[in-house]
Amino acid sequence: MQDIRQQAAKKGVTLFAAGPCQFCGAAVASGVEQCLDLFAGLAGLLRAERAYAEVHLFSVDAHALQHPEIHGTLNNHVHLLSLCLMLERQASAAMGTRKPAVEKFLTLGRQWPPLDPPPAGRRGSLTVADVVAASAEQRPALTRRWAEQVWEAWAEHQPWARRTLDRLTHA
Ligand SMILES: [Zn+2]
Repeated sequence: MQDIRQQAAKKGVTLFAAGPCQFCGAAVASGVEQCLDLFAGLAGLLRAERAYAEVHLFSVDAHALQHPEIHGTLNNHVHLLSLCLMLERQASAAMGTRKPAVEKFLTLGRQWPPLDPPPAGRRGSLTVADVVAASAEQRPALTRRWAEQVWEAWAEHQPWARRTLDRLTHA
């Protein structure tokens, strides 16, 4: 919690410890902290649910992009590039898959224009709570839908992601 409090404070955001998650709207009782616990719990499914493990990186990107206030600024860039690769360019969403274009992006280390997120609560209607509550059978397809909704919510920055990937793969 310390880390995310600091990130949020830097962005002038106060974290609430009660009610639904203030960022993604997940119907939890104790706010963003519980939302993060649910997300951490998904990692515990990887061993038992092979089909979910094949799409786990959708969860990683979707959750991060629904909670930009508690992550570093460049985080948005990385997760958008990753979603673009998986949803539009057939990159694997399996746990442990490397994305050379994203690694190259990280080595560039130059200043990137900020990618302002859509308003909290308008970052896709599915949340980690839905994916956690789903049956093992439903979970992989629901996870992909979650990622598609988040990608759609960030539509304003899709051109940036496509353009940047084109440059990274052709440079
Ligand atoms: Zn949340």
